[in-house]
Parts: sequence; C-alpha cells; structure tokens
Amino acid sequence: MPSNEFLFPAPPQAGVRVHGETALFPVHRIYCVGRNFAEHAKEMGAEVPARGTPVFFMKPADAVVTKGGDIPYPGMTKDLHHEVELVVAIYRDAAGVVDIASALDYVFGYGVGLDLTRRDLQNLAKEKRLPWDTSKGFDFSAPLSAIIPKQQIENLEGLVLSLQINDVMRQRAPLSDMVFNVAEIIHELSKLYALKAGDLIFMGTPSGVAAMLPGDHFTASLEGLIDFHGNIAAV
Ligand code: MG
Repeated sequence: MPSNEFLFPAPPQAGVRVHGETALFPVHRIYCVGRNFAEHAKEMGAEVPARGTPVFFMKPADAVVTKGGDIPYPGMTKDLHHEVELVVAIYRDAAGVVDIASALDYVFGYGVGLDLTRRDLQNLAKEKRLPWDTSKGFDFSAPLSAIIPKQQIENLEGLVLSLQINDVMRQRAPLSDMVFNVAEIIHELSKLYALKAGDLIFMGTPSGVAAMLPGDHFTASLEGLIDFHGNIAAV
C-alpha cells in the first residue's frame, strides 16, 4: 500500500524573508531571464532577443541564499561573475497561459538578487552548444534580499537597479531599460511552464557584469527601496 510517508526525512523547504512579515515566502522554482538588458546582451557578444522570444533558464529552489552572510566561492571555476537582477515573487497558481493584462495580479512582491554565474563554464557551454546548468544552477547561486510586497512599491519601473562591490559601483540601470517588462515575462513564461505560487523570476541583468573574488563585499540595491548586503567567503 502506498503511504504518504517518506523513506527518510524530506529536504527542508527553501524560503525567503518577507519585509514586515515573520512568515517566509516558500520557494517553488527559480526561473531566470537571459539577455533582458540590451547593453548587457551586447557586452556578452549576444544578439538582443527579438520581441516575443525571451531566453529562459532555471536554478534549483534550494540555490537561494537569503542571509547575505558568507557565500562560498564555488568549485570548478576561476571566473565567478555577479549579475544583479530584479526578482519577481509569484503567489498564485496560474491556470494555463496568463495574459499580459492580468499578469501583475500573480505578483506578490519584488526583491533584488544576484544571478551568480561561473562565466568560464558558461562560455565553454556556449562554444560547444551545451546546456548552461553547471554555469548557472549551482549551490548558493541565487542570493536574494527580503521580498517587498508590491503594495509597498509605488512605481516599480521608475526604480534603479544597482550593484556595488567593495563600495565601487559595478552595475547600474533603470528597470525601464528591460527589454521585456514583468508582465510580458510572466506571459511568456506561462506558455512554457505551469506557473505556481512560490515561483521566483530573476529578470535579467544590466551591463557591467564582472568577476567577484573571495572576500568581496556586495551591496545589491533597488535604490531607495532595498539594500541587500553579503560577501563571498574568504578562503
Ligand atoms: Mg542573469
């Protein structure tokens, strides 16, 4: 007889802090958007996607790191890159494709995170036309701030996304520079996957991506709304 019991204790549920709440936001999946700022696509030597065809990839839910703390420098790379990104938190299941007009109804709130990337492995994968998983979906690859409920944000597209490493500005761009906005990305993603409460979407990074070294301190910001601090563990 099948039962609801597991052979061994189920792994812990990944969760993200929510501004002003004690309860955590439970993470279902982490979707990521590639090439969503034209200047970054250019610096990577990639084509800016034609409208209607965003690039998606995923990270495992338990890659999320919610206490900036000490993020371990990952193995098998000599070129760990930062990509600062707006992160969208979904809190309703979608029944099929979500239209653009109602897409923002599915959003609980927003945070700021880093899409950490083993750039050397990604370049190799691109060269060989292999999947990006080992360059993007590794342990501790998704540091993320507390989520700010959307009711507390007046004008999202008016915000500026930025990243400082050791107090030097590395990346800075207004969210209005995104090629696909939040509603368009939710619409496109829902064509490919059943969107669920608990999904996170990393919305893509502006230009200025570069290496982070052990001991580096970062401040990822939605300026005037959230500053998220952390560091790469010293070895
Ligand atoms: Mg990215």
